[in-house]
Amino acid sequence: MKCFNCNSELEKEKTWTVQLETAEGPHRVKLCEPCGKQFTDMRKWVAKNSDQDMNEMFRRIYDKASDMVTLQTQAGFIVTLADYMYKSGLVADQEINMVAFLTEVMIECEYV
Ligand SMILES: [Zn+2]
Repeated sequence: MKCFNCNSELEKEKTWTVQLETAEGPHRVKLCEPCGKQFTDMRKWVAKNSDQDMNEMFRRIYDKASDMVTLQTQAGFIVTLADYMYKSGLVADQEINMVAFLTEVMIECEYV
């Protein structure tokens, strides 16, 4: 069994199971301890900021992207961001939309 995010080998007693809200419905994945903590922190951060203007939040994340993700994954990052920005105008729950976006980024992007 390997970590869904970083692909490292999982230790049984330190495995985190998280439920992702994807477009196809809920999806359970296994994460290692550091990735699980990172995911939990991210969710808490979104919950804390969910009353803010989401467009502004997307914009702030976009501005930070050049320092956060490697050049190779920046193109994909921007496409994903634009996609979720568009969806945020359609979905009722901005918090879930933002968590879904950051989860996708966490999984797909390589960090500097
Ligand atoms: Zn991991």
